[in-house]
Amino acid sequence: MTEKLINVTEPSLPPLIEFIPYLEKIWKSKILTNGGPFHQQLEAALCEYLGVNHICLFANATIALVTALQSLRITGEVITTPYSFVATAHSLLWNGIKPVFADICLDSLNLDPSQIESAITPQTTAIMPVHCYGHPCDVDAIQRIADEYNLKVIYDAAHAFGVNNKNGSILNYGDLSILSFHATKVFNTFEGGAIICQDKKTKERIDHLKNFGIVSQVQVVAPGINGKMSELNAAFGILQLAGINAALEKRRRIDALYREELKGVQGIRCLTQSGEKVSNYGYFPILVGGEYPLKRDALFEKLAAHRVHARRYFYPLISDFPMYRNMPSAAHSNLPTAVKAANEVLCLPIYPDLEHSDLKMIADLIKT
Ligand SMILES: *Cc1c(COP(=O)(O)O)cnc(C)c1O
Repeated sequence: MTEKLINVTEPSLPPLIEFIPYLEKIWKSKILTNGGPFHQQLEAALCEYLGVNHICLFANATIALVTALQSLRITGEVITTPYSFVATAHSLLWNGIKPVFADICLDSLNLDPSQIESAITPQTTAIMPVHCYGHPCDVDAIQRIADEYNLKVIYDAAHAFGVNNKNGSILNYGDLSILSFHATKVFNTFEGGAIICQDKKTKERIDHLKNFGIVSQVQVVAPGINGKMSELNAAFGILQLAGINAALEKRRRIDALYREELKGVQGIRCLTQSGEKVSNYGYFPILVGGEYPLKRDALFEKLAAHRVHARRYFYPLISDFPMYRNMPSAAHSNLPTAVKAANEVLCLPIYPDLEHSDLKMIADLIKT
């Protein structure tokens, strides 16, 4: 018997028939892009759902990251994490900014505030942390450092859709936060992204920058890019949003079931959640430690042999890719915790429609 293929994630799609009325509206209005009615409607709906003041929709999160840095006129050096998807640091290179890598904490796998300060130089202008796997950074400690050294904070919040702490949305920390709505993320618009900002003026500036810098028919104020989200993507987002709470609840149950199944397995550590309602259960990372009989890569291969495609996020570290590895801050001696995490982490399949029997099968493969 051939076993069925299980990927690390699969997008949840509403029934196709439900999307038809949206398409009909687009066809009828003939408004396909440029801040049309669905674009406006999705911005309003997301502000309300996420509990944020202003949002600017984008074609994807990478263009949003690049534009976010431009909107704050960031230059020089930016301190960031090596333990992320490569787009985080690439957005700096696209702006001619030098990334400076600092190490992460072993418990959260987020940028370690105590490592940030020693990475600051006279050229440092900002910090770009990542809420890795949707687990919030130590936002208060990071803000204290930013305030003391007069630095901007731009969060790559690509994983942090709907993540709250006791004060509300985690997206309200720092100067700007960037979401990704890529197909593999918790909330998707096929491709898409957004910048969260705190005031109307900043939103206007970002909206100009994502539309070539155009302010009016005769006025162009900056060398902006084309980063706009289309009506098709925005309409799909509105439909997706209607099902998001149900999807998050299914993810929560899968997360709890994995924790139950893997409890007490020697050498396997599940990342802990800090408190209630913090996570969006977008990822299920485990760390395969020394007491486990197999190395991480051997477990990865074993699962793959049973058609279970877990992913080694984030391996290799960003700082190990050729365009970064010769930078002084990329040295492994500077990043011991990130190196350890990259060698031990495995993200197990998690998505709303993952069958509980399949989850049990995956857990059994890990246990035996
Ligand atoms: C997915 C992701 C991005 C890029 O998002 P796109 O929408 O695909 O451009 C950036 N940073 C992190 C941490 C991501 O996981």
